[in-house]
Amino acid sequence: MKDGKPYVSTTNACKLCKPLGAAVAFRGIEGCVPFLHGSQGCATYMRRYVISHFREPVDIASSALGEKHAVYGGGPNLKKGLLNVMQKYGAQVIGVATTCLTETIGDDVGQILREFRAEFGQELKLPELVHVSTPSYEGTHMEGFHAAVRAVVEQLTESDFGPKHGPVACLPGFVSAEDLRGLKALFADFGLPITLLPDYSESLDGTAAADYEKLPPGGTPVAAIKALGGSRACIEFSRCQKDSLLAGSVLRDTHAVPLQRMGLPMGLRASDEFVQTLEHISGRPAPEALVKERGRLVDAMVDAHKYISGLKAVVYGEEDLAVGLTALLAEVGIHPVLVATGGEPARFEEEVAAVTEGLVPMPLALKGVDFYDIVDQAKTLAPDIVVGNSKGYRVLARELNIPLVRVGFPIHDRFGAQRVRHIGYAGTQELFDRIVNAVLEKRQEESPVGFMYI
Ligand code: SF4
Repeated sequence: MKDGKPYVSTTNACKLCKPLGAAVAFRGIEGCVPFLHGSQGCATYMRRYVISHFREPVDIASSALGEKHAVYGGGPNLKKGLLNVMQKYGAQVIGVATTCLTETIGDDVGQILREFRAEFGQELKLPELVHVSTPSYEGTHMEGFHAAVRAVVEQLTESDFGPKHGPVACLPGFVSAEDLRGLKALFADFGLPITLLPDYSESLDGTAAADYEKLPPGGTPVAAIKALGGSRACIEFSRCQKDSLLAGSVLRDTHAVPLQRMGLPMGLRASDEFVQTLEHISGRPAPEALVKERGRLVDAMVDAHKYISGLKAVVYGEEDLAVGLTALLAEVGIHPVLVATGGEPARFEEEVAAVTEGLVPMPLALKGVDFYDIVDQAKTLAPDIVVGNSKGYRVLARELNIPLVRVGFPIHDRFGAQRVRHIGYAGTQELFDRIVNAVLEKRQEESPVGFMYI
């Protein structure tokens, strides 16, 4: 039984593997190699997903465990693997994430790493070793991502910081590479120095190189992570996750860094809140160009209202992204009738209710569901449009013959996912245009006259 209902199985999970999220987060640290303590198959599966989305070579090391290690423990292989990665990559940081197997056999990775430091720390220059527990029989890739960021802050940030004068710590969660670049530009507009963690804007969306680089450039420098305790403030995007899963809580509770936690800045209200926070921290008003960006977005919403007002949408994906999209759709007059996530975040229904209140009726908010459940519900709700990642194309959008606007992770049936913007006025504008155009394209295709002016 699951929630009082007969439980059969998962059909097309609306989530991905927990260590996959950790591997992406580790790739956003300068000189870091993600390392899976588990079998090679896990690493291969994750590489396939990350490569098809980002279209970059992605090395994920593995301790390559077999049957024997399931009985005797994977410690020796983990140590051997770390030495290999040090030798072959010259990594500054190795981010070790556990898998279902190593969690089940009960390997104590923290203890194994302590032994490793004791055995080799005298004779070799060791990289920073960070470890995170990511059993994938519970949780999602998004929880793995947040857990890895938290582990990095817990294990690398140094203590004894006095006055808070350092860069603003920005913990954006799993957004696109273009979003990360946009955040850096926005902070620069306010004259605010920033430590973005993680920052895979280059390491997972780099420039063409003549030769293969084992460690691609980019990522948050380790020195900046060590100094995070001196941040003048921390801005963290998450409405849904537990306080205890997020890295901002560590900066607040251990290092007394003032924390401003907010939803992903998608739509007008959340973007306004973010910009007001930047104004407050910097003591500067928003630059004229940003004010104009907002004005153009409002103008676009007015212009497109006649095409989209009253339409119904199904939204699915990572919890914070799903809530951000719901806010955006509700603001522009589209009714998100179903908002679904494969995760089981601490707060979901409350956050969906908060962003839709006063705008549209409360959507059906489902957590811990798979695509079987989503399609089942969607069929009775007759949506006009679907917003979510590529995994919903075949089973949902194609099945119901409605347009899918691809947002989130993974997007592997379209090109340029890493360059899609989601956040701020500019990201909202881009998404909004795509949503309106998807509606227009469908109408045009179905029109008997194939009209040219709409
Ligand atoms: S779900 Fe478990 S076994 Fe499957 S790839 Fe992820 S960690 Fe490996």
